[in-house]
Parts: sequence; structure tokens; C-alpha cells
Amino acid sequence: MPEDALIHYKRISAWCETGCLEYFRLLLIVGFNASTLQTKPPTDRKTCIMTPTPPIAPHDHKTYMRYALEQAKLSPPSPSKFCVGAALVDADANRVLSTGYSEELARDRPNDPGSTHAEHCCFIKVADENGIHDFDIAPVLPPNTVLYTTMEPCNERLSGNRTCVERILGLGSAIKVVYVGIREPNTFIQDNQGIKRLEAAGVKVVLLEDDETLRQEILEVTFAGHEKRG
Ligand SMILES: [Zn+2]
Repeated sequence: MPEDALIHYKRISAWCETGCLEYFRLLLIVGFNASTLQTKPPTDRKTCIMTPTPPIAPHDHKTYMRYALEQAKLSPPSPSKFCVGAALVDADANRVLSTGYSEELARDRPNDPGSTHAEHCCFIKVADENGIHDFDIAPVLPPNTVLYTTMEPCNERLSGNRTCVERILGLGSAIKVVYVGIREPNTFIQDNQGIKRLEAAGVKVVLLEDDETLRQEILEVTFAGHEKRG
């Protein structure tokens, strides 16, 4: 082989070798990254924080209630339901665990074909984060978990579905205090016994009704979509 041709051949060979190596190197990197993504260990679900915590001072119950009210405002107005908002809070860490509002989540949750209430949405989100059923979230809740809800938890549902009182009591003593904005109006259910039943079962309930401005704001949001009252 002439000397010029030999030099050319060596150059092409070297280029091919480098090119092929580079190609295989890229393949390895892409493959490695893909396998890394696939085999990435699951996040420690118990410490996973999905809900950003607003800047609220610890135990500032009225501001937390206003935060729950902001959730209620997200609920679609309708004359056939109330617009309720709720927040599940780790009172020791001053951290929001989850939030919810009426009909936030789909109606076709397993074992609950009815509309999802705000409190139930809070429980479902914690359950989904932990890959468990919302009936079973008690062990993953922090020791001082409290619930803020703009309206008294329901104790009877026209749909016959599981009530929020039953859901709270079903968690044993996992929820230490339920902060309530207003009592349930008599629009759908007469004389709701939600607060009474929770207290009778040993759950502390705090009704934040001494702030008339807040109470009126909650009422207005609660009745969004209803005909104007009085
Ligand atoms: Zn309810």
C-alpha cells in the first residue's frame, strides 16, 4: 500500500474507532441514566411534603381557618352542596399535611361513589402519598395532627355515603383537634350532630365562631351557588 494511502487508512480507522467508541459511550450514558430513573428508590413517603406550608404562625387557628376558607373558594359553586375547605396540619411542626375542598377529587374513588367532601380529600391525599387506603392513614399521621374545616363535619349524608365524622372517628385518636368554622346549616340535613358526636367520642372540637367577620365570610363561601338567603 502506498505511503499516502496507508496514512489515510490509519486516519479513517482512528476516526472510526473514536466515533464508534463515542457512540457506545453515549449509549452507555443514556442507558445508565434511563436505568437510574427506572430503579430510583421510592421517596420516603412519610416525610414527603406535597403541600407547601403557608407562612402562618404556630397555633394561629384563625389564620389557618382562613387558609381552609381559601380552599373552600376553589369548590365549584352549586345549589346542591356546600363549598367547604379543609386543611390537615401537623401542629407540632406547624406544617400543612394536605388540603381539600368539596368535590375536589373525582367521584369514582374506590368504595365511595359519592361526591368527595373537603375533609375526605385531605385524607385521600395523605393516603395516596403513602400508597395506602384513606381508612388506614392513622399510622402515618404525625402525633399532633389537627384538622381545620370551614364547616362542621357531616354526620349524615343524603347519598348514604360514609360521613366525615365516621372517617375521622375511623382514624382512632389520630386527629387530636378539629377546628370548625361554622356549624352545618340546616339546608340539607336538619340539626347535624357532627360536633356532638365527635366530642362524645373524645375528639376535641373547637368552634371558631367568635370572629363575626370570619363567620360571615365562611357563610358566604359555604353557600356559593345557592339562591341568595333572606
Ligand atoms: Zn363530610
